Amino acid sequence: MTEATMNTICAVSTPLAEGGLAVIRISGSDAIAVADRIFIPFGGKRARDMDGYTCAYGKIADPNDGHTVDDVMLTIFRAPHSYTGEDTAEISCHGGIYLTKKILRICLDCGCRLADRGEFTKRAFLNGKLSLTQAESVMDIISAQGESALRSARLTREGRLFREISQVRQSIVAMLGSLAAWVDYPEEDLPEVSSENLLSGITAAETALEKLLARYDCGMLLKSGVDTVIAGKPNVGKSTLMNLLLGYDRSIVSEVAGTTRDVVQESVRLGELVLRLSDTAGIRVSDDTVEKIGVDLARKRINDCALVIAVFDGSLPLDEEDTQLLEYVNSLGKNLIAVINKSDKGQAVTEDQLEKYTGYIASVSAANGEGAEEIERLCRKIFSLENYDADSDVFANERQKKCAENALAYLKAAKNSVALGDTLDAVTVILDRAADSLLELTGEKTSDAVIDEVFSKFCVGK
Ligand code: GDP
Repeated sequence: MTEATMNTICAVSTPLAEGGLAVIRISGSDAIAVADRIFIPFGGKRARDMDGYTCAYGKIADPNDGHTVDDVMLTIFRAPHSYTGEDTAEISCHGGIYLTKKILRICLDCGCRLADRGEFTKRAFLNGKLSLTQAESVMDIISAQGESALRSARLTREGRLFREISQVRQSIVAMLGSLAAWVDYPEEDLPEVSSENLLSGITAAETALEKLLARYDCGMLLKSGVDTVIAGKPNVGKSTLMNLLLGYDRSIVSEVAGTTRDVVQESVRLGELVLRLSDTAGIRVSDDTVEKIGVDLARKRINDCALVIAVFDGSLPLDEEDTQLLEYVNSLGKNLIAVINKSDKGQAVTEDQLEKYTGYIASVSAANGEGAEEIERLCRKIFSLENYDADSDVFANERQKKCAENALAYLKAAKNSVALGDTLDAVTVILDRAADSLLELTGEKTSDAVIDEVFSKFCVGK
């Protein structure tokens, strides 16, 4: 077995589940030779004679016994024109679990190594096909749960974030260049680096990063969803509302007060936003042991969540238990939507009564299927999604955000340093660090440990 073969990796790139098709991917300098050994074309060329970006129909035969395993399509990519930048073969076979594993086993028998998590994308990064931010966006494309998240991941994949960060970095490098020239060749007739120029340059870089950071929270919300608790007294219609939002029946809806004892969890999509809903018991004080457990759980969930949808029976006047809930949520400073439910049964609760607790109030009739749109509108308002532009760049994860925050902190420190009249040398050192943080963000100057960490979050086969 040659070293080239050992460096050739293979993996099943589709989920290991029964399906119409599965794809086994082989990448590395021996990929085409391996494909050539196991693939017998029904006509046309053998793998080794195929051009890049072409496919052929044929069968996979087990080199051990010559038996046919499956009829497949083989696609060949030749370096550097492939995802990884290496020679690559992709075998599309029938999507059976046993079958797919068997073809993978045959590739391994031919000397390929099983790919690590994200190793194909890691190779793409190491071969300069993708920046680190682009590589990370591949993961986001796979996990995107909505149109905005997908669009934003695609833009990053296309390199927009990378370019935007590079521009900021270049502006810092330009400042560093003038500083270096000024410091190193004071006798030359160079334009003076004035503190005004420096400050305005640093401020511009700062503003660009601050804008990107501000969009991050919106992006994260769209990506990960909002932990939401539907709270309220028994029988106000929490389960009915949850079912309305879900669009189908999940939890028990009954006439007996206090039946929603378990915390039921579901994800619901309201437009672009995914709410992870928990329908809880009320938070009233109770002697019933089982209900007490539910109440404790409800309080805990309210503590942990990002949004509370407090439900009230609009046909009955607010009572102490209702106001206790509102006060409890307010005391925790949680985002709060007050829902006056059962609007079809007459109005004993008015918006005025709730306004001191929240500016987000919806009058709904969950039983009649009315109210989801209004709740969606309020959610968009609370989380400032109305002006969110899915076509703008946004950091994909905490790693990227942290690098940008570091760069921003250095820029602020550099500004301080200029204002304090420090030496230009001192300012240079700080600006250098700001530029380095941005290089770390894009992966142009990153330790192996960081790279390993990034790719360890990928799935095998990507
Ligand atoms: P929960 O204990 O808060 O989860 O309340 P449920 O969802 O189980 O609802 C309690 C009762 O109120 C059920 O009989 C529902 O059919 C009824 N209900 C829920 N929403 C409405 C509504 O908008 N209008 C009317 N008239 N009844 C409702």
